[in-house]
Amino acid sequence: MTCKRCQGRMARDHYLDIEQSGGEWWVEGWRCINCGHVFDPVVERNRRQHAAAMASVAVSAQDANDRTSTSKSKQDLLLDTAA
Ligand SMILES: [Zn+2]
Repeated sequence: MTCKRCQGRMARDHYLDIEQSGGEWWVEGWRCINCGHVFDPVVERNRRQHAAAMASVAVSAQDANDRTSTSKSKQDLLLDTAA
């Protein structure tokens, strides 16, 4: 496994999960031996879900902008045709 940041080599590491109220206290993750970047599958999953949610919001906003700009450009076409 290689690091996303520096492409360095990742090593398995164990981290104390202080947020977890039950179950395992120690979680296994990956740490870059070059830059120290930590890859935690739970954090990565949360990042992806957040990124997908933000992309969905961005697409919705872009669709709304496209509808608005489309109607504006049609209006401009009508004005251009009338002139
Ligand atoms: Zn790294």
